Amino acid sequence: MLQVLCLCLSLFSSDPVKVHSVCDVSQQFTFYMDGRFYRQYLKGQAVDARNWGSLSELNLSNVNLLVLTGGDRRIPYDEGAIQNIKRFLDSGGTVLIMADGTGESVPISPFLEEFGATLTQEKAVGPLTGLGALSDLEIEFRRGGAVQFTSEWSPLILDSKARSVLAERSVGQGTLIVGSRGLFGQKPDASDPINDHWVGQMLVDRAARKAIDPGIRHRVTWAEDSKHAGPLKIEFHDGTEQFADEIVEVYHEVRPHLLAITGVEPSPGMIQRLLILPTGGGGFSSGVCIAIGAWWGGFPDKRYPMVELISHEAGHSWVLPYPEPVWNEPIATWLGIQVGRRMGMPEAEATLQRQLRKGRKLDPDFSTLNPMAEDAKRDLVWAKSYYVFESLENKYGPGAMAKYFQKKREVLGPGRDGYTMDDCVAVWSLAVNEDLFPWFRSMAFDVDRARTDLPRP
Ligand SMILES: [Zn+2]
Repeated sequence: MLQVLCLCLSLFSSDPVKVHSVCDVSQQFTFYMDGRFYRQYLKGQAVDARNWGSLSELNLSNVNLLVLTGGDRRIPYDEGAIQNIKRFLDSGGTVLIMADGTGESVPISPFLEEFGATLTQEKAVGPLTGLGALSDLEIEFRRGGAVQFTSEWSPLILDSKARSVLAERSVGQGTLIVGSRGLFGQKPDASDPINDHWVGQMLVDRAARKAIDPGIRHRVTWAEDSKHAGPLKIEFHDGTEQFADEIVEVYHEVRPHLLAITGVEPSPGMIQRLLILPTGGGGFSSGVCIAIGAWWGGFPDKRYPMVELISHEAGHSWVLPYPEPVWNEPIATWLGIQVGRRMGMPEAEATLQRQLRKGRKLDPDFSTLNPMAEDAKRDLVWAKSYYVFESLENKYGPGAMAKYFQKKREVLGPGRDGYTMDDCVAVWSLAVNEDLFPWFRSMAFDVDRARTDLPRP
């Protein structure tokens, strides 16, 4: 009832939104473009939907703002994508391209050059000055390159040497805006909304020149291609297709090892989809869907990082529906290390030992610092977790972790209210048939048998 009332109020009290934006994550995936750019600059002024599919296929008919990055050299902007961007501009759309020429090669460069903009290798030097509507505004800047523009362009921001850092021009009925990446936020937690006092307004003013129908729902576009590998649906688009088969191959290599290490299948309903992300920056897991960065750790030339990443993301689907306390991330990577060991990859042992060394610098015999403390350092938490798993495996293994996973599935009923470290130690105790509370306390874990409802061994 309350919900209905609220909806009515919002319908009557605010103007319909005038901007439908798309932040593209198909040419280069980052968590920043997956929602944080929108939160920093467009929230409340636009409805945003991400594009995960081939840019060439993206339906832009009811969109008036498209936000792009320079892209990644492994997935050039293809001809279909370029034509789609041009049609969108001709129809009155606004395109923002955030890119710099100071780093690696930038796939968007040929498109920009066609319109008279060249990303230079010259670093822009502050302070920056806004022109026109941006004059008198404070312009924040991280770092990045200057851009050379032909006379069709209107500069919007200049550096201290009068070189352009942001400029716009008309293309067809639309507006093309190009600026250094350093003018915008970058952090995946959206904690750096630099220039939010003008970026959103600048974009909305221009985008709104093309009318959209706010009555038609603005939807996410997902990767349009898929194929099945056993029970797994692999999702990709034209640019990521080249990586899909090899990643699936690694998944199939990894999976039997995960089964052996954990002694159980993934939790029911988990890992149904595997999405190939255009990034070298890792992956994520929702349990049902695991997403894997296509060129993580130098894949396909290097294989161990991919083995570890896939095991890690898949591992999250093994611990559900009750995520592990304290070491939910470390246990996922430890599973990856175990898989790597079983596959005879020397990097696995090196990864483990490197983390243990870092932890020992903080707590030499792992007996003093509580990894559950709020100020516990990451290296301590990770190293102590690894130390626990290794110790348990040495004492109660081989296969101690499998006993733990099997016991966890057995004793945790559905609909349980959370899973604490006290519960976790109780499950471990049941799994190895020995009261492990004293041992965990000897390593400064704050655990207490009295705080769990699980039985004693
Ligand atoms: Zn994780």
